[in-house]
Amino acid sequence: VHPVFADLPVTVFEEMSGLAREMGAINLGQGFPDDQGPIALRRKAGQALIEGSNQYPPMRGLPLLRQAVAAHYGRAQGLDLDPDHEIIVTSGATEALAAAFLSLISPGDEVVLFQPLYDAYLPMVRRAGGVPRLVRLAPPHWRFDRAMLEAAFSDRTKLVVLNSPLNPAGVVMADEDLALLAQFCVRHDVIAVCDEVWEAVVFDGRAHKPLMTFPGMRERTVKIGSAGKLFGMTGWKVGFLCAAPALARALAGAHQFLTFTTPPNLQAAVAFGLDEPGEWFETMPAGLQRSRDRLAAGLRNVGFSVLDSAGTYFLNVDLAASGIDEPDRAFALRAVREQGVAAIPVSAFYAKDPVTSVLRLCFAKGDDVLDAAVERLARAK
Ligand code: PMP
Ligand code: GLN
Repeated sequence: VHPVFADLPVTVFEEMSGLAREMGAINLGQGFPDDQGPIALRRKAGQALIEGSNQYPPMRGLPLLRQAVAAHYGRAQGLDLDPDHEIIVTSGATEALAAAFLSLISPGDEVVLFQPLYDAYLPMVRRAGGVPRLVRLAPPHWRFDRAMLEAAFSDRTKLVVLNSPLNPAGVVMADEDLALLAQFCVRHDVIAVCDEVWEAVVFDGRAHKPLMTFPGMRERTVKIGSAGKLFGMTGWKVGFLCAAPALARALAGAHQFLTFTTPPNLQAAVAFGLDEPGEWFETMPAGLQRSRDRLAAGLRNVGFSVLDSAGTYFLNVDLAASGIDEPDRAFALRAVREQGVAAIPVSAFYAKDPVTSVLRLCFAKGDDVLDAAVERLARAK
């Protein structure tokens, strides 16, 4: 491989899903539900494909969808977004992240990132010329404090990237921690890029509170969402960028040269889903919470130590606390090859000083799949 490509390795999700296919394993690695998502949305997408326009939608997205996103975030999170000037539809949260990094980072700008970090952040930040400043979070609480932020922020900080609920930790960041981060952003004149794709997947009666709602943050926050996660259809790749008008203009500048737009039938179906959700935003997390509890109970029964999960599709096993000395990656490779269960080693989410004793499992699966996975993992112990 030419050295210029060395910082763009195959992702751990692709690697583990590939191994799962090869081994015929149960795949609790890459995060996706094993059901296909709300049938009403799929019908709507099919209908829009046959009866609607199949030509370029507007660059910022169908007005219908931008209005639906604004109304949804108004109801769910108390936000007051202007659909004409503050919302851009993207091809998934991944494209939204790329647009944010490409438009907001100039070479040499420092970017504060929290580890564990979603795999797309670091390569994209580096390619945009950003200099990463890492804040290391660790189990069991995965929290940051003032001293950690003092060490990471400087007068060269341009952006901070926040992911809450946090993949892979399953943590919903505490209000007081978000308030502290907001203070740092204001003090250092920093823009926060908030990856909130898991905002609707929170459990035990929690509500998601966007960083954008904290004092001083409305004008300096880029909020990113994903219909793939809102509706459990990860292949749909319809995302949203929400930001104050001046920021949104900069983001649109990058978006127009990345994808320009997103398939119109999927946009129409997502608009329909947001406008007429029925009970979806209650039943979806409730169902996932039951699955979380089933997998956690099963794993505890066979002697694994399970960390709390407050949101996302993921729960984490603490291998060391389960009496397993093997590093997470070695355990994961053995589990997929020998026991037929794919999982993600959490060390893959660290660029430096990895936590090497935590294994991420996706519980967005049917009961029989979860039970079979527990039986197999018990043998890997
Ligand atoms: N950010 C995080 C934290 C994610 O977990 C994911 C995928 N699950 C994404 C971004 C990508 O979202 P999308 O599929 O909408 O591009
Ligand atoms: N977000 C998914 C996960 O965390 C993976 C998405 C991908 O494979 N790129 O499992």
